[in-house]
Amino acid sequence: MNRRSFVQKAGMATVGLAATGNTLHLRAGDSPAPPTPPTTKNWIWTGVQDRATPDEQRRRFERFRTAGIDAVLFSGVDAQVFALAKEQGLETHAWTWTLCRGDRDLLEQHPDWYVVNRLGESAATKPPYVGYYHFLCPSHEEVSDHLADLFGRLADTPHLDGVHLDYVRYPDVILPVALWKKYNLVQNEELPQFDFCYCDVCRAAFKQQTGVDPREQSDPPADAAWRQYRYDTVTRLVQRLAEVAHGKGKQITAAVFPTPSIARRLVRQDWTRWNLDAVLPMTYHRFYNEEVDWIEGAVREGVTALPADRPLYAGLFLPDLKTEEDFDQAVRCALTGGAKGVSLFGGLRDIKPARQSAGI
Ligand SMILES: [Zn+2]
Repeated sequence: MNRRSFVQKAGMATVGLAATGNTLHLRAGDSPAPPTPPTTKNWIWTGVQDRATPDEQRRRFERFRTAGIDAVLFSGVDAQVFALAKEQGLETHAWTWTLCRGDRDLLEQHPDWYVVNRLGESAATKPPYVGYYHFLCPSHEEVSDHLADLFGRLADTPHLDGVHLDYVRYPDVILPVALWKKYNLVQNEELPQFDFCYCDVCRAAFKQQTGVDPREQSDPPADAAWRQYRYDTVTRLVQRLAEVAHGKGKQITAAVFPTPSIARRLVRQDWTRWNLDAVLPMTYHRFYNEEVDWIEGAVREGVTALPADRPLYAGLFLPDLKTEEDFDQAVRCALTGGAKGVSLFGGLRDIKPARQSAGI
């Protein structure tokens, strides 16, 4: 596919996005703007960069628009930055960690709200893999109340179009295969130290439901009902947060693991059942030791399993799309698989606001 047809297919107007050398470059187009299909939307995950001046922010957002970005997922909350983005015609979404929350006051005051593994170890005091992996247990009513309050207040932020859930899941019971070596692990099965949640609330609730204490089972990972229990705890939380966001007239979306089957198996996300306005699966092929063309099948699995009116935007990990050809192929695979657009993550040095703008 040549540049022009790619641009047209991606609905990216007169310029195309190209990732080269871990950076995103903007390229001047050579054709009149084709009409943008109304159902296509492209996103970017980025920071609010609240130390940038308003002019620097404006230039950054102009570059996003010119590159074909329609919606920005901001980590951090700054109503003034959101207002500047909206001036440039961009949607604004607050990208927020949901269940992975190591807030000091929560850890100190509510250590019992955190997930517990099959060995009885709490993620409040012994997080798996990395020091920040303090995951809350979605079964606790207090956790659900706390997050509903947090997202409710977030949704009230002026100039904000939506909230975006990240880390709305359990800790990885199995890591993406490309990370096994990094952590010196072989995870062909669910190892007890990474298998959550066996807290008192979850054990009691599952026992009430089935008559069985999951920790007393000889092989807990083999129990389909126990897996389903945990999918349902996350799903219930998401449905509640969706009600909160929609009640305030805001969109709600989530960054999720790349396919429905991988998401359930690795992190207990049953995201095709979530009542979201859109899902943004992180179809990061290299995390699974796959080639770029894997993205198409991954996207198709999600699109096929979702309700027909639920858009899916394929998350692309730019540091692993090292050439323009790779980037073009990734976008093409995403759209061919049924995505309504792409969402870009990482390596965006060239489109940071700034004094380096001369190079663009
Ligand atoms: Zn629990």
